[in-house]
Amino acid sequence: MKFYSLNHKAPIVSFQEAVVNGIAPDRGLYFPDSIKPLSADFFQNIENYSNNEIAYELIKQFVGNEIPVRELKEIIKDTLSFDFPLIEIENDVFSLELFHGPTMAFKDVGARFMARCLSYFNKNKTNELTVLVATSGDTGGAVASGFLGVKGVQVVILYPSGKVSEVQEKQLTTLGQSIKALEVTGTFDDCQDMVKTAFLDKEITDIIQLTSANSINVARWLPQMFYFAFAFKQLKNRSKEIIFSIPSGNFGNICAGMMAQQLGLPIAHFIAATNVNRVVPNYMETGNYIPLKSKQTISNAMDVGNPSNFIRIQNIFDNDFEKIKEALSSYSFTDDETRDTILSIYKNSDYITDPHGAVGYLGLKLYLKDHADKQGIFFETAHPVKFLDVIEPVIKKKIKFPPQILQVMDKEKVALSIDNYEQLKKFLLK
Ligand SMILES: *Cc1c(COP(=O)(O)O)cnc(C)c1O
Repeated sequence: MKFYSLNHKAPIVSFQEAVVNGIAPDRGLYFPDSIKPLSADFFQNIENYSNNEIAYELIKQFVGNEIPVRELKEIIKDTLSFDFPLIEIENDVFSLELFHGPTMAFKDVGARFMARCLSYFNKNKTNELTVLVATSGDTGGAVASGFLGVKGVQVVILYPSGKVSEVQEKQLTTLGQSIKALEVTGTFDDCQDMVKTAFLDKEITDIIQLTSANSINVARWLPQMFYFAFAFKQLKNRSKEIIFSIPSGNFGNICAGMMAQQLGLPIAHFIAATNVNRVVPNYMETGNYIPLKSKQTISNAMDVGNPSNFIRIQNIFDNDFEKIKEALSSYSFTDDETRDTILSIYKNSDYITDPHGAVGYLGLKLYLKDHADKQGIFFETAHPVKFLDVIEPVIKKKIKFPPQILQVMDKEKVALSIDNYEQLKKFLLK
């Protein structure tokens, strides 16, 4: 499959090149040249397929013949080595738990798939590749875990000091080996800016081959289609149309769902639920896309002021605002609303959501109020234990540490503090 840049000023590339480059030389995001729907039969009979088979069907056209079938199936099997349970919380309201992977957030799927693709492409190469990534919380841990032990790949993670949770910090600073953590005095936006500057800095890129592991990378973005289909497969009664509510920050996850819809997965509508970082809800009201400075919230993985993947969404719907409005609604919620919701879901359904999942639930409920003929799935994008300091005071109960988390909490944090770009550059070039 060929990929082109959404800025239209860069050469068309193969899947491999798109994965290795991360972003196109004209700074555009890569997008597949064509999207061929799967047969309607496949989706109607989806319960006859295993998760691995479903994933293979969804991804194969995008990889093309660049990874042999047997190897691609191995990569998928390795990536999806955990469960994706769908839990009924209330009538017509389901939670898709995406936190059963090694770092307990949905990003495990994309990070693991991407790491294994890069490892495949890199296996006969002698030069090292450096994955440089900024994280607002969960990306760092997922990328660190996904790439640990991958031959020929160094990982450098930038995170904003004091703005990620304790568990998140442990996950990205304790693995060692080829994983290096840089603790940045500043915000996520500052980390992101430094990464972007490094990608444009010829003194660095002449010497080091850099790639990104944010959801702009097609190998991290596209596998996120898988679990939309896993959710559909688990719904026993599909007589009511299905909507998905996705807690959104960089809009990679929801945009992957729209790709699954393009492939034929029957999704009636999408809800992008955000915290007070409401660039997209504003856009849906006015038709104007105006980036804002990001604000810090209790759902920190969504503190994004200029969602990178929104341009892909616009592209899927031919840059037609009316078409986007038909497919997507977007609502914004405050931290107080989020806390109240965590408590009410806990009281009414004996179910603990993390702050991101709670925002997704709020979006879903708001939409269902006027659309009682639909049933809805919200994504529980991270395990509540990752946000202990928010959840425990709200529900007034201790959350038990799962084994994946216990494993990292005792390990010692190793991170280098930096506060400007020159320090990052020195670090990369040393
Ligand atoms: C990254 C993340 C999000 C936002 O996902 P996007 O693909 O950036 O929209 C939501 N919830 C959690 C827990 C995350 O880690």
